[in-house]
Amino acid sequence: MYDAKNPPPPTGGYRGRFAPSPTGPLHAGSLVAALGSWLDAKKNRGQWLLRIEDIDRPRCISGADQEIMRQLLACGLQWDEEVIWQSERQETYQKALEALNQQKCVYSCTCSRQTIAHTLTSQGIQTPRNQEMVYPATCRPTQIEMDSLSNRATALRLALPKNLLIEFEDEHLGSHTENVSTQVGDFVLRRNDGLFTYQLAVVVDDAEQNITHIVRGTDLLNNTARQIHLQNILGFSRPKYLHLPLVVDEHGEKLSKQTLATQINTENSQSALLELQKAATHLGLRNLPSGENRSIAEWLLAATHAWSNYGSGKT
Ligand code: GLU
Ligand code: ZN
Repeated sequence: MYDAKNPPPPTGGYRGRFAPSPTGPLHAGSLVAALGSWLDAKKNRGQWLLRIEDIDRPRCISGADQEIMRQLLACGLQWDEEVIWQSERQETYQKALEALNQQKCVYSCTCSRQTIAHTLTSQGIQTPRNQEMVYPATCRPTQIEMDSLSNRATALRLALPKNLLIEFEDEHLGSHTENVSTQVGDFVLRRNDGLFTYQLAVVVDDAEQNITHIVRGTDLLNNTARQIHLQNILGFSRPKYLHLPLVVDEHGEKLSKQTLATQINTENSQSALLELQKAATHLGLRNLPSGENRSIAEWLLAATHAWSNYGSGKT
């Protein structure tokens, strides 16, 4: 198993990852993220790691992790090193939380979503549907002391500086700036059910696994600034980011379990190749040999050569 206390030494080389949440099997959208991150890693002669992000356990489906791994292998997307499961890494996240707490930037919050919505409405702020509410800092004490971190019935939030501007470069989309304080607000690190949040877990894991390049769907773009802030205050280095175009359904909605996205068909190598081709087309890869009579390995090699047309193509 991946040993968090003895992470692999930094090699100076490219280390990428695919980090699916096992809320269902791979669909066309998640295959795009898997293929894009795999191609970018291979193009740069790097390592490609698989991390199962089963941190939000109530949303996970039993067996989906095994199914995802089976689908990846059927598509020829073999990972390097041991797979890690976030559900087994609570102690590591707790340590990061304690480090933040020592900086006196963690406080507990008892607000429900309803209270937050109510507070915002009373301040005349409307949150558009599908958009997260900016936390109005209701529970934030004027002076933050170290929290006991023991009360499991409350959420723990990260206190942000005023007007925290985070600027980052996306390898494909270019430069981005976000005011995390006004666009997100003090965000949750540990929920009131005791579970650590994606934001904290992903940052800790990317750092411990020495990930140098994060290639993932554009739906995660608006989490990036929050994650960079956490990297900054935890003293981690910043990986490069590349966000891939999203696959949407006929209503323009992101494919997900909620939109009942169908799982990719990896019944046999011909059907897996067809799925890979669809994903590659979506990534804008041109002039790939048609799949007929071709092995997946051969096709993936051609796709790796074609990749620089879309992605960073640089380390
Ligand atoms: N687990 C996240 C998801 O499946 C992806 C995390 C990431 O790539 O940063 O949406
Ligand atoms: Zn609160």
